Amino acid sequence: MKTALITGGTKGIGKAIALEFLRNGYEVVLNYRNDERTAVATQEEFNMLGYWPVLMRADVSDEIKVREMFKEFFTIYENLDVLVNNAGISLIKVLQETSSADWNRIFDVNVKGVYNCCRAVCDNMISCGKGCIINVSSIWGEVGASCETAYSASKGAVIAFTKALAKELAPSNVRVNCVSPGVIDTDMNAHFTEAEMVDIVESIPIGRLGKPEDVGKACMYLAEAEYVTGEILSVGGGFGK
Ligand code: NAP
Repeated sequence: MKTALITGGTKGIGKAIALEFLRNGYEVVLNYRNDERTAVATQEEFNMLGYWPVLMRADVSDEIKVREMFKEFFTIYENLDVLVNNAGISLIKVLQETSSADWNRIFDVNVKGVYNCCRAVCDNMISCGKGCIINVSSIWGEVGASCETAYSASKGAVIAFTKALAKELAPSNVRVNCVSPGVIDTDMNAHFTEAEMVDIVESIPIGRLGKPEDVGKACMYLAEAEYVTGEILSVGGGFGK
């Protein structure tokens, strides 16, 4: 059976990605940071559907905790087929109010978290001569968002990282791709007022917010598309294009 580890896999987009992989017969590990109650509730919800994902706690920005998590992973599984670097945080502030601590936290989670996880699995994927890494960026990493400079820059970095690592690992038959969601209906967008949401939906050509499952399906496509690497797949209903 193929294996997949989804960072931030217990809620929002990560949870939907996890369900897609479970439905497609993968053994799935759900990484989470703090929220044990949500993690256990998600695991139980999947159990009710007949799936048995494993939970692993680690803050992706913490290199040592990430190494420990993958050490545990490789004591259970021989190899990792798919790593989905989904964990991420956002920040809505004008630049003048964005402190260096804000900036560092965004980059620690959104960029260093991706680096930490990729570093921790690379050797296994290279020695197995197969593997697939899917990074979750954002449309703002492609086009930039006002009041989200740190977030946009971090997601742009994820795109450049994806393209570079794809070239580096292609000779080892390890593929690296990226999904770039538009506005997806999760807690990350809970701060928008109803009126703001109406405006956002009006600006999406497909005429609705994205569902977490939309991103899950795109990730499954990338996991199975054996001749696709270094791609940035927008999942935004045409938003920002
Ligand atoms: P969400 O509902 O806030 O969920 C984020 C997940 O990431 C949570 O499970 C959270 O775990 C986890 N996480 C955060 N920091 C972590 C860390 N340091 N270590 C491990 N896990 C961590 O967000 P979402 O909307 O599903 O977003 C998922 C990804 O999609 C993010 O990378 C986000 O930037 C990207 N994205 C989202 C949208 C959107 O419109 N929603 C659009 C474009 C891109 P805890 O709850 O334990 O903190």
